[in-house]
Amino acid sequence: MKLRIAIQKSGRLHEDSIKLLKECGIDINNGVNKLKTEATNFPLEVFFLRDDDIPQYVEDGVADLGIVGENVVLEKNCPLQTVEKLGFGKCRLAMAVPKSMEYNSIRDLHGKRIATSYPVIVNDFLGKMGIEAEIHEISGSVEIAPGIGLAEAICDLVSSGSTLFMNGLKEVETVLRSEAILVANNKLTDEQKVLLRKLVFRIQAVKKAKNNKYVLLNAPNDKLSEIIGLLPGMKSPTVLPLAEAGWSSVHSVLNENDFWDIIESLKAAGAEGILVVPIEKMVI
Ligand code: ATP
Ligand code: ZN
Repeated sequence: MKLRIAIQKSGRLHEDSIKLLKECGIDINNGVNKLKTEATNFPLEVFFLRDDDIPQYVEDGVADLGIVGENVVLEKNCPLQTVEKLGFGKCRLAMAVPKSMEYNSIRDLHGKRIATSYPVIVNDFLGKMGIEAEIHEISGSVEIAPGIGLAEAICDLVSSGSTLFMNGLKEVETVLRSEAILVANNKLTDEQKVLLRKLVFRIQAVKKAKNNKYVLLNAPNDKLSEIIGLLPGMKSPTVLPLAEAGWSSVHSVLNENDFWDIIESLKAAGAEGILVVPIEKMVI
């Protein structure tokens, strides 16, 4: 019994997908031009496919799992189970219009032609907003559509916005926020479900580790309680005596989001020699 997972063959999600599997301790050799490969130390077969094909393959049960952008899954409208958000491939599907166009609200898209590779999502969005517009489906280089007179607006994936800017466009509405997700076929066997739980357990440990840092610092003993009060820690911080009398070493785990605020307060409270170390896996 094994699981078959479909990942992008090449493109924006390929490397991060492979990296995630490797960080989960799964050994795969991703030879170029390979269609599939077998993991050596986990019952997992990896298929390399175009991202657009992944939802259908998983729905049909040709693959049991897939790593693909949420945007693609929604566009293909396949009945799949979203197992886990993966934290990479972050982008947004956004409406953009030429910089020179006056834009005050979504009403300004009424009656316009909108070029996109995401007709299903765009149609749904416009319907909800009560806007009638003409959708022109094109498969690539959507950003050039206004320049060549094909459409007045576009709806495309954006991460930094630099492609829009270079094409004389401005972003005006966010239609969807997306990231890579792990999806599963709805008809996994019980044995496959056990394997999937194992895989998800590992993915969660990797994700948590990425969001946290291990912090070590030295504190004068008379400031210990104040410093410990600033540290959330997994349970409570570890406190060890230093060789120098009157000082202790404090170890704890900090969430990335609170990181800078807490470090500043720690310094202000008298902490010295603060070391911040990445965590590889975290199981709580
Ligand atoms: P394929 O050859 O597999 O069909 P593609 O050209 O359709 O590849 P990519 O451009 O590699 O796809 O993008 C794959 C996914 O990466 C997107 O569906 C989206 O979820 C995500 N992504 C993240 N940032 C961006 C971005 N700035 N532009 C496009 N996609 C992005
Ligand atoms: Zn694609």
